[in-house]
Amino acid sequence: MKLILATNNQGKLREMRTLVCQNDKLDWLDIELAPSGFNPEETGSTFAENALIKAQAAAKLTNYYALADDSGICVDALNGGPGVYSARYASDEYLACLKLINELKDIPENKRGAAYHCVITLVSPEGKLLCQGEGVWRGSIINEMRGTGGFGYDPLFYLDSHYKTVAEISLAEKNKLSHRAQAWQQIENYLVNNYKK
Ligand code: IMP
Repeated sequence: MKLILATNNQGKLREMRTLVCQNDKLDWLDIELAPSGFNPEETGSTFAENALIKAQAAAKLTNYYALADDSGICVDALNGGPGVYSARYASDEYLACLKLINELKDIPENKRGAAYHCVITLVSPEGKLLCQGEGVWRGSIINEMRGTGGFGYDPLFYLDSHYKTVAEISLAEKNKLSHRAQAWQQIENYLVNNYKK
């Protein structure tokens, strides 16, 4: 079964690939990237709507099963923002981190909670919604960037459980805990239970 990963975000792709490839029971899956330049307009107002838009666009373009992730960071002190606009918060990921540090500069430590959200959607070649997985990962936002791993807001996203930011833990560790890993788990269960070699 060929499955198209509907993303152009390199960080997301690296994590999705590792997640998808780590289960031997899914070794019959043939994962391919969406054609380069694939970039459908994300017109939805929720992660679920945008994930479906991207997955259906990829299925329509390729005629294969397609998987899309829509995700972002929801900051308590910004009333859940930037949320679905996380990728468009600034012109690049580094500037987005600087902007977030600046927006939270007057927020005390005990009010700096945030959560990563992720919805992963699987559609058939005809664009029919087959399964939707969701994940939420809570942490807090520190006021300086730490670490070189991960992508996006990871250098600011602090895990009390590890005394580290997500950019300071390994990809293997992130993939055990993350919003994306949680959402993927539900898709993985669906694939294992409904499709065989
Ligand atoms: P989209 O789902 O392509 O609209 O973009 C998601 C955006 O949310 C990314 O560009 C990042 O800025 C942010 N994001 C989502 N997941 C993560 C993560 O695991 N680490 C850091 N940033 C993330």
